[in-house]
Amino acid sequence: MRALLVVPRRWVLWRQGLRVITYCLVSEAVAVALALRASPVAVDRRTMAVLAALLVLGVVQAEAGRRVERNQRRMSVGPHINMTSVWTFAGVLLLPPVLLAVLVGGLYLHLAVRSWYRLQRVPASRTVSNAAIILLSCYAAQGVLRLAGLEDIRSAVTHGWFGTFVVAAAGMTFFVVNALLVLPARREVGRTPTALFGTWSDNGLEVATLCLGALTALAVATLPGLAVLALPPLLLLHRTVLVKQLEVAVRRDEKTGLYNTGGWRALAERTLAEAARHGDTFGLLMLDLDHFKQVNDTYGHLAGDAVLRAVAKTITSAVRSRGDAVGRFGGEEFVVLLPGIGRPDIGAVAEHIRRAIAALTVPVGQLTITGLSVSIGIAVYPTAGTSLPRLLDAADTALYHAKATGRNKVVHVADLV
Ligand code: GH3
Ligand code: MG
Ligand code: MG
Repeated sequence: MRALLVVPRRWVLWRQGLRVITYCLVSEAVAVALALRASPVAVDRRTMAVLAALLVLGVVQAEAGRRVERNQRRMSVGPHINMTSVWTFAGVLLLPPVLLAVLVGGLYLHLAVRSWYRLQRVPASRTVSNAAIILLSCYAAQGVLRLAGLEDIRSAVTHGWFGTFVVAAAGMTFFVVNALLVLPARREVGRTPTALFGTWSDNGLEVATLCLGALTALAVATLPGLAVLALPPLLLLHRTVLVKQLEVAVRRDEKTGLYNTGGWRALAERTLAEAARHGDTFGLLMLDLDHFKQVNDTYGHLAGDAVLRAVAKTITSAVRSRGDAVGRFGGEEFVVLLPGIGRPDIGAVAEHIRRAIAALTVPVGQLTITGLSVSIGIAVYPTAGTSLPRLLDAADTALYHAKATGRNKVVHVADLV
């Protein structure tokens, strides 16, 4: 790890692609230039004390929230959510530009050192780039204050509603500039708004963090000791991230990332209720890999798991990404829920999946596993049944017939008898 410091050739940054590298270096250069350009001010002892207090509080928060953060890393939370903004935004409202750079630098240096020694996940280049982006967001927010002719939160306090409005505008500027600046620094930029900007609750968390930042600044400007009061709510707020993760985890199958039985059933029940209300139709596929035990016996259980993941991916990409839901019912059995789909179309979808799995090649170490096949049973609401257990039963019957009559085929329950 320590070698990384002295061997720039090995920095993770260089693996990011030219666009991202350029963007990171440029944003870092701009941040440094702005920090250096800031006119030096005569810094009094009180301001230095404010800086020290924000640094200490930031370090205490990061250390106290370590366990939450480690859990959080297992699942990606929104792209720009960072609870350090409590202190950096408070800094925007309290510190001159030069000291603001010291605050951001100090807090992120601590984060970087910590991730090397403890979490060991975040490359240093990412921390540096995050720090630069945060500093630029800080300066943008401070620009709003200066534009309004305000020095800091103390002068805002003397301006009543105008001061209130300006502080709110500075917070919004911080939020928006930060959300926009992180976009190009990310390698895989998805197309959905959620992939780009995070979920509603991610953004809610960021807004709540900034609100606490403003209150902290107000406390520091009036009764500095009260700034400590920001810590407990902040740590609790941090924990809400885990609630969200649990909600997702409880519905997912860990091995494949598909819905698990409970998650899929809940969705299917909802679809059924909707279909009943609107007189719609929907389809169910039940899939079971053929002779999967042989894959395990020949290549081992780990190779079997790799096949399950590849199959899960194949099914997912064969159906519509919006609305359709793929689940794993344990073992090598999968289910697909296809809302709004009727008799002729569902046969085509099932056939498409069957062919895709037959054509699948799964690399496992040196080997490549091929020759897979799947049997599929189809049931359509409401003809095959009007309750979920009935529909599942019908699809299972069709699947059983597919197995009994040679496997690697699709059977619609309506074609039986
Ligand atoms: P059929 O064509 O009749 O479906 O034959 P099959 O061998 O696929 O059927 P069976 O249900 O008898 O075997 C399923 C096998 O799936 C047995 C079990 O070892 C394997 N299996 C179940 N869950 C997992 C898993 O999570 N990982 C791996 N690698 N194998 C699993
Ligand atoms: Mg099987
Ligand atoms: Mg089975």
